[in-house]
Amino acid sequence: MKAAPEAQKRLLDLAELDSTADRLAHRRRTLPELAEIAEQSKQYAKLATEAIEAETEAGDLAREQTKAEGDVDTVRTRADRDQKRLDSGAVTSPKDLASLQSEITSLHRRQGDLEEIVLEIMERKEAADAKVTDLTAKRDEIAAVRAVSEERRDAALTEIDKDSAEVVEKRVQIAGDIPADLLALYDKLRDQYGVGAAMLRGGRCQGCKVALSIAEMNSIKAAPHDEVVRCEECRRILVRTAESGL
Ligand SMILES: [Zn+2]
Repeated sequence: MKAAPEAQKRLLDLAELDSTADRLAHRRRTLPELAEIAEQSKQYAKLATEAIEAETEAGDLAREQTKAEGDVDTVRTRADRDQKRLDSGAVTSPKDLASLQSEITSLHRRQGDLEEIVLEIMERKEAADAKVTDLTAKRDEIAAVRAVSEERRDAALTEIDKDSAEVVEKRVQIAGDIPADLLALYDKLRDQYGVGAAMLRGGRCQGCKVALSIAEMNSIKAAPHDEVVRCEECRRILVRTAESGL
């Protein structure tokens, strides 16, 4: 392939720009904020699940408490009713009186037991409510921390986008100075090796850093200036400049 030496030299500008594009792409993929946000999201999800579990537990206990309080009321109502019957004097048979008195005593004992249960449920519910408050606060705290990380990530991405747009614009300009067939070869090599062209500097390929043999140097020296030469080692386009050592 043949191309004017000036067009070949433009490949070095293109290669530099493409390596800037690669650096920007790498930076975009490896922003520390991305790992931070992933970790914060994991923590958030864990706390959110635990908060829901605690809320469910508190809700269950609230229903349990209502039911237990209802049980206390039922027993109390029965005891009150029996007490009224006793106080009314309507029951006169000693046997019936003894039986009524015994039932009242038993109902009072039962009421005491049920009130113990209510207290125990209330204590458990208080603990569950405290857990809800604690987990919700921790969850919201992580959400706020994550929002800050997201802001930092977005600011970094905006900067990378701006730099990338500049690279794209410059690349169009530089590509305009390079013949289509040479550009196509460069792009193909870039796809294959990451870098499509390298300078020959001081007898060394700057792509693979390998020093050329005397025979290779002689062959390049003998090649016409518009001949597109390739590195034998890495196959990249080797661009000759005043620094090539030829
Ligand atoms: Zn090379």
